[in-house]
Amino acid sequence: MSSKVPSLTLNNGIEMPQLGFGVWQIPDDEVVGAVATALDAGYRSIDTASAYANEKGTGRAIASSGLPRDELFVTTKLRNSEQGHDSTLRAFDASLERLGLDYVDLYLIHWPSPSRGLYAETYKAFEKILADGRARSIGVSNFLPEHLDVLAAESSVVPAVNQIELHPQFQQAQARAVHASRGIVTEAWSPLGQGKGLLEVPTVGAIAHKHGRTPAQVVLRWHLQLGNVVIPKSSTPSRIKENIEVFGFELDDDDLAAFAALDEDRRLGGHPAEVR
Ligand code: NAD
Repeated sequence: MSSKVPSLTLNNGIEMPQLGFGVWQIPDDEVVGAVATALDAGYRSIDTASAYANEKGTGRAIASSGLPRDELFVTTKLRNSEQGHDSTLRAFDASLERLGLDYVDLYLIHWPSPSRGLYAETYKAFEKILADGRARSIGVSNFLPEHLDVLAAESSVVPAVNQIELHPQFQQAQARAVHASRGIVTEAWSPLGQGKGLLEVPTVGAIAHKHGRTPAQVVLRWHLQLGNVVIPKSSTPSRIKENIEVFGFELDDDDLAAFAALDEDRRLGGHPAEVR
């Protein structure tokens, strides 16, 4: 099945599907089936990380899909404890090995972990990995504008992506504006608010009812219309399929205004200045 998902063009000219499949918290033995279901449903972008301990299973699912490598977009991330120039190069080799791939499409610094003071040096190793053609794009995750400023001062490679927590209850308007002004694509993690409460909010239910869609589908649609990349996670086959059926309708201005009013500026995850 060919992909139903449109792509965004990153600042290096590489195309990235606007919707992908996130695999955080799916154990390695279960991720094989979940990724296979996602690929079968039409997802072509997979978001894993060294810290998720499921790169091996993700790689196995990719290999057994039989899909041409150039139709897939695979992201993985550097674990915080492996930051530093040489340790990053070693960690990247180990990720590729576990994935069973020759290259990834996007390699991300998982968190800035500012207390370590290593993310700028780490990014130098990312530049080498990019120059060697082993990552088609490099980027960051959970970087605040101040961390992006440090990279801008020390590197000429603008991160292609910043993957940050973002959902209707934590809309991140300021970060999105900073990214847009620098040519960085905003990728939303926990786009469904981890399924904790957001999907039961009456406003979301009313918009879903109006469009004959589910709450998860209208939330994902909201992200897409904002210009975000989204990577919803599920291990339930029916939900994996539901979460990619988000392209045959449009939210209108009233819907977008109702979503805008849901912002509580409330994080579900850790604060990037503090996470070690
Ligand atoms: P999410 O917002 O994608 O929510 C996933 C949860 O929502 C599921 O476990 C399930 O309980 C529920 N759900 C999913 N589909 C549903 C549906 N159709 N109907 C009802 N409930 C549904 O949360 P997430 O997994 O935290 O985030 C998605 C991905 O983002 C992760 O898998 C991972 O790849 C990435 N991520 C990255 C970071 C980072 O630091 N870079 C942090 C967290 C997550």
